[in-house]
Amino acid sequence: MPLYAELHRHLGGAIVPRILWRYFHRNSQDLADRFPEYPEFEDFYTRPRNTLDEYLELHTLVENTQTPDTLPYFIYRLIRGAYIFENLAYLELRYTPYLRTDETLSQWERIDQMSEIVEIVGRASQVKEYPIVTRQILCMHSRLPDEVNRAIVDLAAAYPDYVCAIDLAGGDVHYADRLDEFIRLYDNARSRGIKTTGHLYETTDGCYPELLPYLMRIGHGIQIPLHYPELLPEVARRGQCLEVCPTTYFKTGTLESMNPLKIVFDRCFDAGVDIAICTDNAGLHNVRLPFEYENLLTQDIISFQQLQACQQASFRHAFAWPHPQPPAQMLTGLLAPV
Ligand SMILES: [Zn+2]
Repeated sequence: MPLYAELHRHLGGAIVPRILWRYFHRNSQDLADRFPEYPEFEDFYTRPRNTLDEYLELHTLVENTQTPDTLPYFIYRLIRGAYIFENLAYLELRYTPYLRTDETLSQWERIDQMSEIVEIVGRASQVKEYPIVTRQILCMHSRLPDEVNRAIVDLAAAYPDYVCAIDLAGGDVHYADRLDEFIRLYDNARSRGIKTTGHLYETTDGCYPELLPYLMRIGHGIQIPLHYPELLPEVARRGQCLEVCPTTYFKTGTLESMNPLKIVFDRCFDAGVDIAICTDNAGLHNVRLPFEYENLLTQDIISFQQLQACQQASFRHAFAWPHPQPPAQMLTGLLAPV
């Protein structure tokens, strides 16, 4: 029964370890030799890292396997799992299309190839037997040249049926020297009607108030309620929603325990700032969306009522949910006696 909306999931981190390991063994002798047994691979793939940079390095392992030829294989399995095991009704899948192009080509040839990637992802995401409404978010990247990021904005404008927004990724600590550039990119996107989110205020080193006005949603943003609560009224006034991905902060070394998330939720609720609970990298973490919900409940970070408010907020802030309301089953659930 499709129930939930997932607003923040990376294509690279969405592949569950078992599927990735099987793929290595069927298709890549090198990787199969490197990871002969599944339990060791799962441990390597899902264990926490010390920093966000170290964690993002791991994405390259998956990105290198996601080529035009293999993307349909991975996406089909991703959609199937999301429908059957996570009850997703709506999914925004994000990635940097440039990083799926052929590395042997020139930069301009790779830019050209990005549209092929968007089309492949778009077609592969539509699986008749697992009818999740899916859209792509194209990630600009803090380590890619400006020309590539500009081309990513152009691509979002060119494929409104497949692409619902742009994002900025690559580690928020790396934005500092290029803030003007990113502001221009976002400004340009907004002037063309492209929707926006961005990884921001995820780590204490990644807090740039200059970028905030350009975002419709904030990727993570947990440092705002934790360390800059004075910004919350402004965030509420702009109607910006925080995409909070609880497991991420332990895997990246950003938080040491779940407890600070209680402050995040409480301060946001008090200030009228919506939160969408998301997975970020459901495969890499080996934690799917229903378990993110369950973890928050069992660790007393949020109440059932708050959970339901967040689940509804996910639909309200979805960039392309086609209906005025969440799925009827979810509303029915809300009316059930306590
Ligand atoms: Zn993310």
